[in-house]
Amino acid sequence: MSLSLPLKSVLKTTSAHLKKLESLDKKTVQDLLEYFPRKVESTEIIEDFPSVKLGEKNTLVGTLCDFRREKTARGKTLGRAALVLADGATVEVVWFQIPYLLRNLKDESRVFLVGKVDRNYGQIQISNPEVHVEKAVHVGGLRAVYSESPPITSKWLREKIVGLLPLVKEFGEILPAEILEAENLIGKSEAVRAIHKPKSWDEWEAARKRLAFEEVFEVQVRSLQEKFLREQQAKNQYRVSFDAAQVKQDFERLPFELTQAQKRVLLHILKDFEKDRPAHRLVQGDVGSGKTVVAFLAGLVQVRAGNQVALLAPTEILAQQHFTGAKKFFGDDAHVALLTGSVPGKKKEEIKSALRAGEIDVLVGTHAILTEDTEFANLGLAVIDEQHRFGVKQRAILQETQCHTVAMTATPIPRTLALTIYGDQDISVIDELPPGRKQIVTRVIGDTKTREKMEVFLDDQVAKERQVFWVCPLIDESDKVEARNVRAEFERIRERFQNRKVEFLHGKMKPKEKDAVMQRFQAREFDILVSTSVIEVGVDIPHATVMVIENAERFGLAQLHQFRGRIGRNEMQSYCFLMVDRKDDAQKTRLRSMEKYHSGQKLAEIDLKLRGMGELYGVRQSGMPDFKCASLSDAEMLQSARDWAVKVLQEDVELKKYPRLKARVESEEVFF
Ligand code: ADP
Ligand code: MG
Repeated sequence: MSLSLPLKSVLKTTSAHLKKLESLDKKTVQDLLEYFPRKVESTEIIEDFPSVKLGEKNTLVGTLCDFRREKTARGKTLGRAALVLADGATVEVVWFQIPYLLRNLKDESRVFLVGKVDRNYGQIQISNPEVHVEKAVHVGGLRAVYSESPPITSKWLREKIVGLLPLVKEFGEILPAEILEAENLIGKSEAVRAIHKPKSWDEWEAARKRLAFEEVFEVQVRSLQEKFLREQQAKNQYRVSFDAAQVKQDFERLPFELTQAQKRVLLHILKDFEKDRPAHRLVQGDVGSGKTVVAFLAGLVQVRAGNQVALLAPTEILAQQHFTGAKKFFGDDAHVALLTGSVPGKKKEEIKSALRAGEIDVLVGTHAILTEDTEFANLGLAVIDEQHRFGVKQRAILQETQCHTVAMTATPIPRTLALTIYGDQDISVIDELPPGRKQIVTRVIGDTKTREKMEVFLDDQVAKERQVFWVCPLIDESDKVEARNVRAEFERIRERFQNRKVEFLHGKMKPKEKDAVMQRFQAREFDILVSTSVIEVGVDIPHATVMVIENAERFGLAQLHQFRGRIGRNEMQSYCFLMVDRKDDAQKTRLRSMEKYHSGQKLAEIDLKLRGMGELYGVRQSGMPDFKCASLSDAEMLQSARDWAVKVLQEDVELKKYPRLKARVESEEVFF
């Protein structure tokens, strides 16, 4: 099938272009055809002066005369020319960067110029226009505008994709005919063609609507299918009832009062236990909201019923922290064991056989637990901490265990998003922090003077035996953005704070090395930890009360909020400084939300509005679907896609009638 042909065999282009495509994961004809435009714009051709629209992008046609180069006072080269329109009127043309095409252009050529037209000292001027010598696909109607990543430009994409459009007919229909009809959606091939080369705005809108529906529908089918299949295998063995008076008594084990939110969420989980099928619940709560004890309390109910509990953490240090906490909490009521990668082989085997024999009640560990030979005698509950950190495969293994699962995350989830991607999980939110926490004082800093003041303040904090996190985004080679490099920054900080102990941590270190650094930081063996964004969210460093984030403008608010959550976990006053290098006021305004708001949920909603989905949780790392057409603000569409997914699955849970949809659902990764 030609859709699966490799691009390098069908495109006539340079190796630089092919290499870039490869790095964007665009390998086949289909991949490129599914590289949908960011937007569509009109390039209606304007031939005479009265039709020119001031202050807007115009597509002018005329004769280009008097092309010349000029040097500006600053020594830059400008290109200037005059465009004579059909009615003899002249528009000034200025280029700040001279287009390649102009080099071979003869004077008095007929050209199309696309650019913004404005009045400049009384003259009508078009600035920095694109130049086209023929209409081709670039001027004269609606045209697609793509996200560019040099050397791949919108112009290049438009030309190549238009060449491939005859192949759209090979796209098979994925949506059931019934849905197409009821929802008034156009077919797949038609939609792919129209999204790239619409004949009208209506056509484009129809294409976008259809493709968006498909995206959302697919995600819903995928997650709901899991839930349906799980429910089919319902068995009574999962039923564990709880005794409210007993649970209340369990609260006495804690040195503090539970918050109302913690109690509510615990009740959700305990009610799940009473159902006769395994429940999957996602517990979302801001950093520090106290998710761990809720998991412990639920675990105790399972242990009392004679079941085993597994508690998974993404890193050794976090597992260690939970192990210590669990031993204290369960006391004599449970045999608690720790299984991580660094447990020696022989000990590992001992733990595993004790687990099989049912002698261990609570197993705390990292994903090292998730190997095939780790068998539980009667696993009743698996708790997954910081679940977004686990890979898809690891989650799949857990799904197979068929026990109750409680996944915990501090990643805030906007409502519309929750509706879309958590089809198979119920969600509980701990929306309250324990009392007595001080709000973290947060400041955006954009000038050197204030930076100096901040550094003095910071030194004073260290003198008071406080510790500091200093986050610097790391640059990778393809990254043009100038960001503070951790290593260079580490040297600078060490120089600046000569009396203090400074260490650093970066993503290239082995997990063991990272853990070791964190452990030493926790033990207060040094004062300032300079690191990339790799430091763990869940780890408690009680004396760390200051966080500095360099190039804060590069992060989403939700992400910054997560960083900030590493401090301020107790009654000490904590401080967060967001450093911005650029004099970018829009960025500063965005970051000021951090000064004002302290709820992850609120910040995530703002982020979603300002920067959209892709940016919300950093690069894909979280496994969030990355919609190309769908918008999460379209709640109505999300709901109807969900209703259809339910309907289709109720009739045919294995999707036997829809082989294409089935293949698609199975091919892609499972979200969360
Ligand atoms: P997170 O939700 O970020 O995982 P933790 O479970 O690590 O938060 O809890 C953060 C800290 O708050 C822990 O030291 C924990 O003992 C404490 N904590 C939890 N619940 C309460 C509460 N209701 N009152 C006071 N402190 C609490
Ligand atoms: Mg935690």
